[in-house]
Amino acid sequence: MSFSSEVKEELSRISAERDCELAELAAFLRMSGSIQIAGGGNRINIKVNTESASTARRFIQLLKKFVKAEVEIIVTKEKMKKHNLYVVTASSPEMGRFLEKIGILLMNNERFYIKDNIKPELIKKRCCKKAYLRGAFLGSGSISDPKGPYHLEFVTAGSKQAESLVKLINSFGLNAKVAERKGTFVVYLKNGDDIRDLLGLIGANESLLKFENIRVLKEMRNSVNRLVNCETANLNKTVDTAIRQIEMINFLKRSGVFEHLSPSLKLVAEVRLRHPDLSLKELGQMMTPPLGKSGVNHRLKKLEEIAEKIKSMKEED
Ligand SMILES: [Zn+2]
Repeated sequence: MSFSSEVKEELSRISAERDCELAELAAFLRMSGSIQIAGGGNRINIKVNTESASTARRFIQLLKKFVKAEVEIIVTKEKMKKHNLYVVTASSPEMGRFLEKIGILLMNNERFYIKDNIKPELIKKRCCKKAYLRGAFLGSGSISDPKGPYHLEFVTAGSKQAESLVKLINSFGLNAKVAERKGTFVVYLKNGDDIRDLLGLIGANESLLKFENIRVLKEMRNSVNRLVNCETANLNKTVDTAIRQIEMINFLKRSGVFEHLSPSLKLVAEVRLRHPDLSLKELGQMMTPPLGKSGVNHRLKKLEEIAEKIKSMKEED
């Protein structure tokens, strides 16, 4: 099951107060319902498509609390798609009046107008605002798998609808934005904190925990990767230094100077040649008696100075 479906299933189990239920239903209908006019214009049907069985059930339960409606469900399986599609059609003589009551339709002289804004009375209370967002998510929301890039979105039919949703989401201190996509207006959140907060607002607490757990693991893995990269960089530096030192010691040997060096310098040089992969500290521990890191460094520097002197003398010749 996709993370989106998990969130929707969780939302479908939430029990709420009646005013919250009305706000949720209004949002759901606005986001995913289409209106059909039947019976010579005096009967209004609403049709809802959803890929989630639990969402279809939730919608029918909520609708029946407010409207005496005849409900028909058709389940189809679209070719090339994994999911079933649930098409719910509800018809009732009261439907037009109900849609007017929840601010979706305006009836004027036997004509209908679709209203774009959220009816303010529906979302007076904070709990109802959250319920409205829950209905909007059930109606047209989706969230990407938290293992990948963070993304949560609502698809809306028009720019005004999108704007009113953005306003509502951002009234909770979040940063939703609108993008136009193939004739629809998408309200989206990309920030991990914002998405977590929205899951909390709409009541998807189990999904929120799952989201946070995956997020923590992901961030931990990123920081481990950064650490490994950092260690690799240090290792490369050590290797480069060792290669340079070995070339320098071989140069001293070729030029015949090596034999005349002090025993302590010869000893460090031989240990370096035998152990090209060790750090200075480790080289010091290989010696008898052991030598500290700065001691090893000092002697290798000394060898380097001698090599430089010989090189410059040769250039003068
Ligand atoms: Zn409420």
